[in-house]
Amino acid sequence: MSFEANLKKYAKLVVEVGVNIQKDQLLLIRTPLEGAFFAREMVKCAYERGAKRVFVEYSDEEVTKLLYTHATEETLADYPEWMAAKMNTLAEQNAAFISISAGNPDLLKDIPTSKISAMQKSTGVALAPFRRLTSNSDVCWCIVSMPTPAWSQKVFPGKSPEEAESLLWDRIFEATRITEADPVAAWNAHTDLLAHKCAYLNDKKIKTLHYTAPGTDLTVELVKNHIWQGGGEDSTKGTYFVANMPTEEVFTMPYKYGVNGTVSSTKPFVVSGNLVDKFTLTFKDGKIVGCTAEQGEDVLKELIARDEGSHYLGEVAIVPHSSPVSRTNTIFFNTLFDENASCHFAIGSAYTTNIVGGGDMSQEELEKAGANTSSTHNDFMVGSDKLTIEATTESGERFTVLKDGEWAFE
Ligand code: ZN
Ligand code: ZN
Repeated sequence: MSFEANLKKYAKLVVEVGVNIQKDQLLLIRTPLEGAFFAREMVKCAYERGAKRVFVEYSDEEVTKLLYTHATEETLADYPEWMAAKMNTLAEQNAAFISISAGNPDLLKDIPTSKISAMQKSTGVALAPFRRLTSNSDVCWCIVSMPTPAWSQKVFPGKSPEEAESLLWDRIFEATRITEADPVAAWNAHTDLLAHKCAYLNDKKIKTLHYTAPGTDLTVELVKNHIWQGGGEDSTKGTYFVANMPTEEVFTMPYKYGVNGTVSSTKPFVVSGNLVDKFTLTFKDGKIVGCTAEQGEDVLKELIARDEGSHYLGEVAIVPHSSPVSRTNTIFFNTLFDENASCHFAIGSAYTTNIVGGGDMSQEELEKAGANTSSTHNDFMVGSDKLTIEATTESGERFTVLKDGEWAFE
């Protein structure tokens, strides 16, 4: 299969299965400059499917770096109103959103973390309405990726730029099932399997999950009336969409104050372009009370200190060790891929879709139910072929969810 043919399949998959674009709908595609040719393919597919208007927003890493270098912390702490209005308005108009997430993970490594933090914080506040509509699945959205030269070199440092980029494309096509004869059919079968796992776990009404692995002994309580989700989901307007491609996880909401013990990371963790590696977090009653990292400890500490909610977990996700992403045996330095290779948790905000009635709950009600809120949400990986997860249900039944990294139930 030629590269062009695979790219067309990929664009079609994202538009048709990812955001499932509907007739007369608006679509915003956000892409790095390097992704223009991929975005154009998606624009074509979207119009063919009857989209009303497709907007493309380009970002340029060099310009981003210049901004962080020259703008003051005060400027970064003040998110432009018109930029927020654009995103918030489009979401209110039920536009669909595709983001091509591809960047150099080291781009901001020389920028003071206080600047990065100021920008993340102001973005979080300004785009809160947009983020609420996406996290509540009121709008359809999809995050996908593609190689950029800097990213490819990071993943394949010994190779020439062209070779590295071509290798990374191959890994992405594998991880997203584009190499299958009919990716749309393969995705339908895959999302069906994830739906089955979710149904089983939802039926069990789990109270706690106990994680054991080298360096990990952690008990995670789940919120009452939690919902396991995975694969695709129906938007509140009834459109089935898949928010992440690839996606291999089933995930739910931890009880904010019910996490105890220690967990060790199994893959590098990229925070705003900074690498954190080989770290351990210790929890008491949900709160992170200790952390150590062999690399990027200050970055990790700064992330945890960002606000009240960044001291707590907001997501529990299970991914079998044999997932296609995991089988590529590649560290992507990109959360979209790395999180789908491995069981993970998120530091920060929970998804309101992970609790019954969450979308209609006020901030106070969410807090009372034990849902975490934060301006940040960062996934970190804890899965491996040595991870076992035991569940205890509300009625006291025990069963094994994951054994040696693989599903332990049919
Ligand atoms: Zn996740
Ligand atoms: Zn997450």
